[in-house]
Amino acid sequence: MDFTLTEQQEFFKKVIVDTVDKMVAPKAQEIDEKDEFPWELWKEFTSLGYLGLRYPEEIGGMNADKIMCMTFYEEIARGSVGFAQSVIMNILMGTYFIYRFGSDSIKERCLYPAMRGEKIATMCFTEDQSGSDLGATRTTAVKDGNGWRINGTKMWITNGPICDFCTVLATTDPSKGLKGLDFFLVEKGTPGFSSGQILNKLGCRGTVTGELVFDNVWVPEENLLGEELGKGVNYVGDILDEVRLMTGAMALGIAKGAYNEGLEFARKRVAFGQPIGNYQLIREKFADMDTLMNAARLMIYYGAWMLENGMDSRLIAAEAKMFATEVCLKVVDEVTRIYGANAFAYEYTPQRYFRDARFLLYGGGTHEVLKDFIGRSIIGKL
Ligand SMILES: Cc1cc2nc3c(=O)[nH]c(=O)nc-3n(C[C@H](O)[C@H](O)[C@H](O)COP(=O)(O)OP(=O)(O)OC[C@H]3O[C@@H](n4cnc5c(N)ncnc54)[C@H](O)[C@@H]3O)c2cc1C
Repeated sequence: MDFTLTEQQEFFKKVIVDTVDKMVAPKAQEIDEKDEFPWELWKEFTSLGYLGLRYPEEIGGMNADKIMCMTFYEEIARGSVGFAQSVIMNILMGTYFIYRFGSDSIKERCLYPAMRGEKIATMCFTEDQSGSDLGATRTTAVKDGNGWRINGTKMWITNGPICDFCTVLATTDPSKGLKGLDFFLVEKGTPGFSSGQILNKLGCRGTVTGELVFDNVWVPEENLLGEELGKGVNYVGDILDEVRLMTGAMALGIAKGAYNEGLEFARKRVAFGQPIGNYQLIREKFADMDTLMNAARLMIYYGAWMLENGMDSRLIAAEAKMFATEVCLKVVDEVTRIYGANAFAYEYTPQRYFRDARFLLYGGGTHEVLKDFIGRSIIGKL
């Protein structure tokens, strides 16, 4: 077993750690407080080419392997979760379907500009009545001439209110439930496509999240993203492990950011004549946090290695996402204890990590749904 990073992976890690430390982390508090999309940072950061992280070099991408991708997701989340969500949406789910199924002209219009940060992408599954339960999707797409007519409303869409295009899940045959779902590309400026309510979120502030409305939106046939009708859910399955591992990697990043703050505080803060880090009960917290974070890291990168090597990563991806998230929630909680009352003040960072970490419970699958999937996979159909 060899856990050594290749020279390329090592170099990539060094550069992204440095970039996040210099460019992203110093702005995290301001992004959170203002809760506005950081356009300046977006321009500066996206000029570095990271939005093409997982796409081939021939089309301007970085061709990063899955280990490098996880390193990236972990590090950018350590810097600022609010910013990371927008960036990762462009890199992964926001562009996945147009990369895989888009025509040349769709790629020219949407994919390549999105990889350069000139266009903002998003992905729409969730509706006000359905999240985990994709089979309950109410947005419809009905064949109309040489295209499709889409009607419905999507909720909780990362980048939604500022997106230039979105991939939207709709039912083309409501009688078929999960087997009647397909994805469509809808671009800004298409008549009937608009942005609705913008959500005032607990965490991940800075990323604009909200409602997208499709009111009799007509798109041409080429905007149907898929080779075969009714296979939308299968296509999601092809990217799900990567999405789950990515969410777990973000959990590692948030945990690491909070942990570092707690460590610095424990070394400096004096109580009863000595730094609190001298007290056994505080040391125990670091022993536990470090152990858990190492275990989560092993699971995430093991899953990424399996994915990279074409192995079946369904179980490990679900388990790693769930475990890393629970570890992250534990770490951000412990850090707010170590920090004392200052953790309760907006001037300091622990409260931000504490709030940001909560989003991990939903993206990539809720833990109830994941546990159900893991249990069913293990026991099998009886
Ligand atoms: C910050 C943020 C950004 C997001 N960005 C996007 C985005 O860009 N695009 C998008 O489409 N969505 C997005 N979402 C939505 C996210 O994908 C959903 O929240 C998620 O799918 C869960 O759906 P839900 O919130 O509707 O909860 P539900 O699925 O309604 O679940 C509610 C509760 O019921 C439980 N539950 C559901 N089914 C079962 C079951 N079978 N067994 C046991 N318990 C069950 C859940 O675990 C949960 O506890 C975002 C959410 C957040 C918080």
